[in-house]
Amino acid sequence: MPMLSVLGLVKRFEGLTALNRFDLDVEEGEIVGIIGPNGSGKTTFFNVLSGMHPADAGEVYFDGRPENLLNRKAHQIIGLGISRTFQNQRPFNNLSVLENLLVGGHCRTRAGLFSALLRLPGARRERERLKERARDVMSLFGNRLRSVETNPAWTLSYANRRRLEIARALMSDGKLLLIDEPTAGMNPTESLQLAETIRTINRRGTAVLVIEHDMNFIRRICPRVVALDYGEKIVEGTYSEVRNHPKVVEAYLGRD
Ligand code: ADP
Ligand code: MG
Repeated sequence: MPMLSVLGLVKRFEGLTALNRFDLDVEEGEIVGIIGPNGSGKTTFFNVLSGMHPADAGEVYFDGRPENLLNRKAHQIIGLGISRTFQNQRPFNNLSVLENLLVGGHCRTRAGLFSALLRLPGARRERERLKERARDVMSLFGNRLRSVETNPAWTLSYANRRRLEIARALMSDGKLLLIDEPTAGMNPTESLQLAETIRTINRRGTAVLVIEHDMNFIRRICPRVVALDYGEKIVEGTYSEVRNHPKVVEAYLGRD
């Protein structure tokens, strides 16, 4: 049984079918790339899978559980081990980098988010443990986040916001990480570094689904790639099989 099994996912917005009978399996330890022109349904897939938007049809099985997890609440999905980043970054702007990570980790503590933020006595030890984990997670990005951990999130560069988003998602300690366009706003060197970081995250045992437009990035870290167009999976295979497939070439030529 694959770690994640998505069957016949359908999502409609009024007259528009944003996802149409979409199927995908992800094995434990995999990194799978998702490509496709703008508007092809990539982010919608993450929104539905992570419980943020209700789907119209389909099934989702994860981590050996026999029940269909489609349309569970977002916090339940995180609790089950699927965490995500957002295409349009939304950190808590007035919280520091470190505090943003502590919020990301709250679902793993007994004390919970609010007692942690209010610094209730019972929460202090857990907060210390969480801080340690946050620093560990930040270290995946070298000194980039560590050196600004007390700065408010609104002061961060685009690249660091991306890193913060990924770090925050990692704080929930999931088995599957969904990353939506992580290199947006990064220069080629930063993208390369991020590719290495994602590989490290993956080697530590997290499966990754990554939406990305930068084909160098996809080629570098994704042994398997899925291409979408108009909400449908048009091709699936290795990077070179997918990138040069006539249907994929046509999808990009016809749309962008
Ligand atoms: P991608 O991430 O591949 O660029 P999206 O999944 O964001 O594409 O969008 C797929 C289609 O669904 C687009 O036509 C988009 O306009 C539409 N769509 C996405 N989210 C919404 C929404 N919340 N309400 C209405 N239409 C949406
Ligand atoms: Mg998108």
